[in-house]
Amino acid sequence: MAEPSKPPLKLDGKITIITGGASGIGEATARLFANHGAYVIIADIQDENGQQVANSIGTNRCTYIHCDISDEQQVISIVNLTVKTHGRLDIMFSNAGIISTSKQTVLDLNLTELDALLNVNVRGTAACVKHAARAMVEQRVRGCIVCTASVAASKGGSIRTDYVMTKHALLGLVRSASKQLGVYGIRVNCVSPSAVVTPLAKRSPESAEKTMRLYEKLSSLKGVELSVEDVAEAVLFLASDGSKFVTGHDLVVDGGLTKLPDADD
Ligand code: NAD
Repeated sequence: MAEPSKPPLKLDGKITIITGGASGIGEATARLFANHGAYVIIADIQDENGQQVANSIGTNRCTYIHCDISDEQQVISIVNLTVKTHGRLDIMFSNAGIISTSKQTVLDLNLTELDALLNVNVRGTAACVKHAARAMVEQRVRGCIVCTASVAASKGGSIRTDYVMTKHALLGLVRSASKQLGVYGIRVNCVSPSAVVTPLAKRSPESAEKTMRLYEKLSSLKGVELSVEDVAEAVLFLASDGSKFVTGHDLVVDGGLTKLPDADD
């Protein structure tokens, strides 16, 4: 009997940069994208982790490059190097982000910590979107940009005011960029996960377990916990031709959480 045909690779030959790919959501996405035929460049500041992830994926499908996204020059360098080495950049997954380590209600907002978050989450993501888009326009690539926002981008929070502010800003960036870049055939979207256990979630002022319990209570899907692989699948959809008419969209991956009344929060 003939072997059943394999489903087509969704990103065959696509040259992709993934920021924050050394860990968590970025790492899961790097693995999934490579399995779907993409060549992945992991951009991160955790050199040991990033190198290990790239090695385990395989040097023919993945490479690690140090890049601090809060330094625009480093973002320019990695984009230029990608174009020089591979001829183009097809996909930018601008995913790297940091979270506040103390509660940060508006009454005790630490403006120095706010600056640090703005620097990475907003300024760094803007640099990635800007330079990826410029490379795509120059190379006439009808590319695709995905940013990682959060459910924190669409509702106020009782804590983490600084983080919530930065994630709201990303929706403005994605919506404006999608409006401006559509003329070049470039799509720009974001993915907004609810809580998922990663090193970032563990650094949050509330324990990851407590947050997961709360989110499980708020989710419509009982007995299901969000995993980094689930988020990666949503990013794969946004980065592949399966979503070729989707742009300016915020794909929430939250078990219905943001659609439930705030009274339950
Ligand atoms: P993570 O800590 O596992 O991964 C974040 C990665 O970003 C790390 O590898 C880190 O080294 C990298 N990074 C941090 N600052 C950087 C910089 N200046 N330049 C380059 N890389 C940098 O955490 P994660 O949960 O996978 O986070 C990924 C994204 O998902 C973040 O934007 C985060 O805000 C968002 N997010 C996470 C959750 C969650 O519950 N984990 C929920 C919603 C959104």
